[in-house]
Amino acid sequence: MRFNGGGVDAGQGTPDGEGTRGRTYVCARCAGLGPTCCEMSPGQEEACFPVSDLERQRISDHLALSRGGFVEERNSRAFVTNLHRLFPRERRVVDALFPARGTHLRLSTDARGRCQFLAAAGCILPNEVRPYYCRLFPFWVVSGRLCVFAPAGCLAHREGRSVAGMLESLDVPAARLLDLHSRLRLAWGFPPEEGMAFVTPALARLHP
Ligand code: SF4
Ligand code: SF4
Repeated sequence: MRFNGGGVDAGQGTPDGEGTRGRTYVCARCAGLGPTCCEMSPGQEEACFPVSDLERQRISDHLALSRGGFVEERNSRAFVTNLHRLFPRERRVVDALFPARGTHLRLSTDARGRCQFLAAAGCILPNEVRPYYCRLFPFWVVSGRLCVFAPAGCLAHREGRSVAGMLESLDVPAARLLDLHSRLRLAWGFPPEEGMAFVTPALARLHP
């Protein structure tokens, strides 16, 4: 649930078949080895990615949550710096969406830094209900190209090593990842495509 665990390796993915059984398999083995991307070091919660109102509502509706599950977090310098890394050509958009004195929502964590929705058998949320960032990780998109984060503990990265290798081992279609990234952009309040002017209203301005 962190922004990323290291550098970003760039590569070119190609659309392929359907199915995410590979992701389930690899991530389950990763969970058996130790901390996964659903956990973070206590004290570093500010580095967690933002959850848009659309995503929060989808989770709350699914679990019939009236409260809890999310934390209002200030837009700290570290948080905004991470967003600048994710959207390197859109720093001004980031600054407008996440102003210095503002706040955003993030997933709630326990004292060990584990996401509130993480259980012994993994995430309790169906895939389609999870935040877009969770569904994308460890992939990301920069300038229309599929990239991967390179966190040390990510088994998918250790085994796949490249975008093509990780797509294959996780059995995730590249086209679906690109689509998810587009949906994340809209949910977080970014314009539909990198470099475009804002569309209004911005969908994810939780606490402007
Ligand atoms: S919502 Fe689910 S997939 Fe996302 S960080 Fe929490 S447990 Fe992991
Ligand atoms: S995405 Fe990587 S770090 Fe997260 S559970 Fe899967 S293999 Fe582990």
